[in-house]
Amino acid sequence: MVKIHNFGAGPAKLPEEVYEIIKKELTNYENSGISLLETSHRSGTYLKLNTEIQAVVRRLLNVPDNYKILFLSGGGQGEFAAVPLNLISRTGTADYVVTGAWSAKAAKEAKKYGKVNVVTPHTERYEGIPDQSTWKLDPNASYVHICTNETIHGVPLVADMSSNFMSKKVDVSKFGVIYGGAQKNIGTSGVALVIVREDLLNHALPICPSILDWTVNVKADSILNTPPMFAVLQWIESKGGLEKMAELATKKSSLVYNIIEESNGFYYAPVAKNARSKMNIPFRIGSAKGDDALEKEFLKGAEALGLIQLKGHR
Ligand SMILES: *Cc1c(COP(=O)(O)O)cnc(C)c1O
Repeated sequence: MVKIHNFGAGPAKLPEEVYEIIKKELTNYENSGISLLETSHRSGTYLKLNTEIQAVVRRLLNVPDNYKILFLSGGGQGEFAAVPLNLISRTGTADYVVTGAWSAKAAKEAKKYGKVNVVTPHTERYEGIPDQSTWKLDPNASYVHICTNETIHGVPLVADMSSNFMSKKVDVSKFGVIYGGAQKNIGTSGVALVIVREDLLNHALPICPSILDWTVNVKADSILNTPPMFAVLQWIESKGGLEKMAELATKKSSLVYNIIEESNGFYYAPVAKNARSKMNIPFRIGSAKGDDALEKEFLKGAEALGLIQLKGHR
C-alpha cells in the first residue's frame, strides 16, 4: 500500500507521534488501568487533565488572567449560536464581517437572536477581503464578528479561529472572544475551545441553553456535561509552541504556493495575495475557472499516489 498523505481540512491529519501517545494511553490512561474514554469527567484523573490543558492553552496563546478558557460541545458551529446568545443582549445588535462561507453562516445563525448588521459589501465569490475602509461598522454593536486575525478597536471583537487556531501567535488581549472547533488545527472533532474576557460574561439571553451559556460553563469549569476528551495541545507545546507552528505553516504553504506561481497558469489560486491562507490553499487546474476533466484526472492521479482528500471547498 502506498503511504497516505491526508490533506483533509478537518478532521485534519494528526501528528504520527500523537497517534503513538494515544495508542499507549488509550487502554491504560496514566496507570489508572482504564481508558480515558471511559473515565468520568468528574474523576480526579480528568480534573487534572482539564486543569493541565487549560494551563497549556494559557501558555501557548499567552492568555491574560482576565480571560476564561472553556472546552465546550458543539464544535465551531455551536459557537455560531453561542456568540449571539451570550452577547447580543448587550445592545441588541451585532456587526458581522462576512468574508467567506463560514462568516456568512455565523451571521445567519445570529439573526435568530437579534439584529445583525453585515458590515462588508455583498460579494458573490469570496476571493479577497474587502478593504476595511468600506466596512460599515456600528459603534453601538454588541460585538463585531470576524473570521480572520484582523484586529479592530471600539466594540468587543469576536473571532472564529476554527481554521487557524494555534498556527501563529495572536494578541489575545485585542479580542473579546476567540473560539474554534478543534478538528482543524488543535485536535479531534467534537470540542470547541472558547476564550472569553470576563467582562463579557453574564450577558446571556434568557433563552440561552445552559450548554451554550459561557457563564454557566465557567462556573462548571467546562464539565457541566460530559466533554469530548482528545486534543493535541501538548504536542504543539512540545514542538516549540506557536512560533514554531507559524514557521512550519509558512514553510508548508510556500511549497504549494510556489508551485502554483511557477506553473504558468496551469494551477490557478483565485484568492487575492494579501488574503491568502497558510492553512487552506484553494486552487483550480487548467484555467481560472478550472477544467473539470483535468481536475478529475488530477484527483485520481493524486489518490493513486496516496494524496487523499485534496478535493475541498472551491
Ligand atoms: C470548519 C469551520 C467551522 C465549523 O466547525 P464545526 O466544528 O464543524 O462546527 C466554523 N468556522 C470555520 C472558520 C471553520 O473552518
